[in-house]
Amino acid sequence: MRCLRCQGLLIAVLMRDMGQPPVSGWHCLLCGATTDPGIEANQVKHSQPIHNRARPPGSSAARPGKGHVS
Ligand SMILES: [Zn+2]
Repeated sequence: MRCLRCQGLLIAVLMRDMGQPPVSGWHCLLCGATTDPGIEANQVKHSQPIHNRARPPGSSAARPGKGHVS
């Protein structure tokens, strides 16, 4: 089982809510996200998670020069 957000390793946990019976869910060891079957069903219905928000190399924010001092 892999995390929907970061693809990290998920472990099974028992989640308790006040006044609710405990439900089994998943806890991500990498990003700490916790999902239960209900949350997971909602996320699958929506769009895919964004895995990589890093800027592509050579984008406008990169500073020119300052390299290769030899
Ligand atoms: Zn995660």
